Order: sequence, then structure tokens, then C-alpha cells
Amino acid sequence: MTLAAAVAAQFPLVQRLLDGVAEIGRDPPGITRDAYGPGENRAQSLIAEAGAALGLAASTDAGANLTLRWAGTDPAAKPILIGSHLDSVVQGGNFDGAAGIIAGIGAVAALQKAGIRPRAPIEVLALRCEEAVWFGLGLIGSRCLLARLPPGALELPHARTGRTLAQSIEACGGDAAPLRAGRPLRDPAAIGAYLEVHIEQAPQLVEALAPVGICLANPGNVRHPFIRITGADAHTGLPHRFRRDAALAGADLALELEKLWLKEEAAGRPMAVTIGRFHTPFGHHSLTMVSGGFEMSLDLRAYDAAHLAALEQELGEIARMVAQRRDVDIVLGERSAAAPGLMDRGIVAGLEAAARRCELAAPRLNSPGSHDANNFAASGVPTGMLLVRNRNGSHNPEEAMETEDLLAAICVLAEYLAA
Ligand SMILES: [Zn+2]
Repeated sequence: MTLAAAVAAQFPLVQRLLDGVAEIGRDPPGITRDAYGPGENRAQSLIAEAGAALGLAASTDAGANLTLRWAGTDPAAKPILIGSHLDSVVQGGNFDGAAGIIAGIGAVAALQKAGIRPRAPIEVLALRCEEAVWFGLGLIGSRCLLARLPPGALELPHARTGRTLAQSIEACGGDAAPLRAGRPLRDPAAIGAYLEVHIEQAPQLVEALAPVGICLANPGNVRHPFIRITGADAHTGLPHRFRRDAALAGADLALELEKLWLKEEAAGRPMAVTIGRFHTPFGHHSLTMVSGGFEMSLDLRAYDAAHLAALEQELGEIARMVAQRRDVDIVLGERSAAAPGLMDRGIVAGLEAAARRCELAAPRLNSPGSHDANNFAASGVPTGMLLVRNRNGSHNPEEAMETEDLLAAICVLAEYLAA
């Protein structure tokens, strides 16, 4: 049987797993698989059963990530990891994360059916808690694995249970002690490659009429979830020159950041600014009041570490300028950051050759989202990503990936692993 035919034969398995994780996360109108909670745990069990049926050896690391290992023909070869995550945001979609792990299972199943045993071990890796909604910090499973947790992360409270990250990890069979010690759970130098399949979070592949694309880079980000602006509450009749209007200062800050974004884009330096939360204080705002308080969140992202650092500096300067102009205080507050992830050139070329063997025109593109792949790339592991066509973005119930398109990605993955 050809590898392409063996991949096509995995349609029922892939569909069954996609439907299985959807059922586990069912939370109308969307899907909720809570990280370090029943949703993620049950999805892990489903994937572990699928791995057991393929003869893969299961293990759980100190971060409670699940690894399913298929030994290769060469005991000395470094393993190739195929990872993604099983958690979702609250009432999100079914495919962000889970599709990538199911792709790994599908690729192993196809190789076995075609009678191909790769030289290097293959490990399907279900990473914990990729979504930032659970602890206000994303990519936690891969951070645990590669010792990239920021200081204090293990004490962050879970949004739903209130348990700390350390307690949550231990409740799921992990062990916080090695994480506290800051040692990587695996030596990055002993990992041959990290591959991740993920739905695309923008419609670039829909536009290109391509089921699958080859990622060149993932953005890194700097996040400020709780920016606070403080001026002075005042009567609506107060003349402009006396006002310390926090709402207009928020608007000013937002528009200055957009100006920066458009300037950078025009100069050929891709980035993005997202202000997800933007409001006067609930319970203390009204039609007839100049607001002395304002709150917003900020996600600043770019594809290059030096560019991101320069943008963060610009952010500080813009905040100081707006604060002075509007006579308010701007406190950026809590900060989290993720490193950008540049894909390995050799892997990009290898995936392109694999796509040609699948008779697919897979365009090269930048990923709109950050992924666990960022942590592997930042730790020096040769990293590659395939993006799968998806309508309507992600983190919402309207995520729309066709199973046929995921099969196309599985074909590229299996051809790459067979080479
Ligand atoms: Zn994801």
C-alpha cells in the first residue's frame, strides 16, 4: 500500500478522535476543555487509548504532559516530537490544538499501515495548558518541559478552581519539584526535531485555496493583561483644559499603538497590536461623568526577538507621552512574554518536498498565532509547523476545519517522517 493510500485510510480514525474530543468538550454553543481539569484529562485519556491501540508507549512527565512513543529502527537516533495541546479556551472551537495531536496519531497509524518504520523514534506529545485563559499565562506544558516558566508561575491561580499551577500539575499526576528547580525535563539537545500541526488562525490558506501551508515563523508576544489609567473623575461641564480624562487617554494610547503598527507594517516589519479589553471601570462610570479611571489589555506581537524588544521600548515611550499629554498616570502592570519561533530552514525544505510527494501546493506563510513550537525553537530544537486551512479564526465556536484538509497535513507529516 502506498503511503498516500495509507493516509487516506485513516479518515475514520481521525474523524472518530475529532468527534471524541468534541464530545468531551461539549459546552454549547462552543467547546470547553479546561486545562489541568476534567476536559483536558479526558481528552488525554482518549488520545492515550488511540496510542495504545497503535502500540505506542505512554509516559507522563513532571508537567503532566503525555508522551506516546514509537521506537525507531535506530536506537541511537534522536526522537522526532509531534506535539500540540488538548485544552481550549472557554466556549472555543474544537480544532485549535487537538487537531495537531490527532494529526500525530494519524501519521503514525498511516506509516504503520504502509509498513514504514522510521529510523528515529516518533513521539506524539499532548502538551498541557497552552491557552492563556486558565492561568493568565500560555504555553505552560512546553514551558514546563523546557524550563521556560517565568518566576512565580507555579503560584498563579487557576481561573476556575483557584488552585495554584503547582497544585494543579500535581493533581494531574505531575511533580512541581523539578519545575521549581528550573531544570528542563528533557535536554533540548537530545530532541531531533519538534513538529506541530495547527489550524491557521487567519484566512490566508482559505484565500490561497490551499488545504495546508508551511509555516516560516510564529510571533512572540509581550502581554499586559491589566493596564490601568488614572486621571480624575469630573463633571461633564468641566472645560477641556482642566480635564484629566482617563477614557480619552485610553483611546489616545490605542490609536498611537495602531499608528506604530501601520508604520512598522509599511516598513516591511510585520507585527500586530490587540486590545482585547477596553473600558471605564464597571460600577463606576456613567453618562454624566468624565472618567478618572480606565482599564485595558494589550497583546503586542512580532516575529523577531530584536523587533519585539524594540516595540516594547516604543510602548513605554508612547505610554509616557500619552500620560504627559493627558495628565494621567498609566501603569502597564503585570507583564508576560513569549519568545518568537523561527522555523528551521532544513525542516521547511523537507516539509515542502513532502508536500510535493503528496501532490499538494503548500504555500509558505507566517503564523498569526504563537504556539508551543515557539518554546522549542527558542530552546534550540529544530522546529517546523504545518498550518491547516480554517475559516473563522480560532478561540470561537465557528472554527471550521475540514477533516480532508487535516488529512492533507497528515500526508505531508507522514511523507516527511518516512523520508
Ligand atoms: Zn492552539
